[in-house]
Amino acid sequence: MNETQDLLQRYLRQRREMGEAELFLDRHNASELHDLLTRTPVETAADAPAPGASAPEIVQLGSLESVREIALGCPRCRLAETRQHVVFGEGNPAAELLVVGEAPGADEDRTGRPFVGRAGKLLTLLLASVGFERESVYICNVLKCRPPGNRNPRPDEIEACSPYLLRQVELVAPRAILACGTFAAQTLLRTTVPISRLRTGAYEYQGVPVVATYHPAALLRHAAWVRTSWEDLQRLREILDPVGGRSA
Ligand code: SF4
Repeated sequence: MNETQDLLQRYLRQRREMGEAELFLDRHNASELHDLLTRTPVETAADAPAPGASAPEIVQLGSLESVREIALGCPRCRLAETRQHVVFGEGNPAAELLVVGEAPGADEDRTGRPFVGRAGKLLTLLLASVGFERESVYICNVLKCRPPGNRNPRPDEIEACSPYLLRQVELVAPRAILACGTFAAQTLLRTTVPISRLRTGAYEYQGVPVVATYHPAALLRHAAWVRTSWEDLQRLREILDPVGGRSA
């Protein structure tokens, strides 16, 4: 079988798989037929991946729900090919506190929810210890899809996903942000300073005060850091409640 026959066979098989029972070749001239035959399947309209919303389109969406709907079908980086679920985020859409983690892990990828599993339970406990019920805050990650094997997020993935986080921050309009872990803090603050130094500083993201602390998964490995993280949360509480009375 020569190359043209092979192409023709692939083209016909593809049309049949798309449910077409008839084919009108006389509609096409030689040049159009050649173009049809040399297209790869992914280039056909039926098989082409959805292009996804552009960054400017995402940051103009008017509600968290509309941003979520776009994110659930997002093809903007390679992680779309390996994820089970997009983990967009959840919680109070008008929360005073926005918690930002790094990326979904296996439990999150399986359930589609952020911060579940042991690390999530620890986060819930820590938040409660300073007066934040989990339901009262909004929780999301820098990346909405799981990097395979929990590898570190790559710069181009962070870049591709950042419009979602930016719009989440704008729409929730929190009074403070808790950045959990190195990647969340470094991404929000656009720095490579280690989390051990970032956690004592005062920063802002989009005009919102940011407190950086260790990721709960790191606290599970280093129990001595739990107290340190609790102190970070106390600072967060003081930002939201400077006179000592709690509003949450
Ligand atoms: S990680 Fe973000 S940019 Fe990449 S596919 Fe998932 S939602 Fe899209």
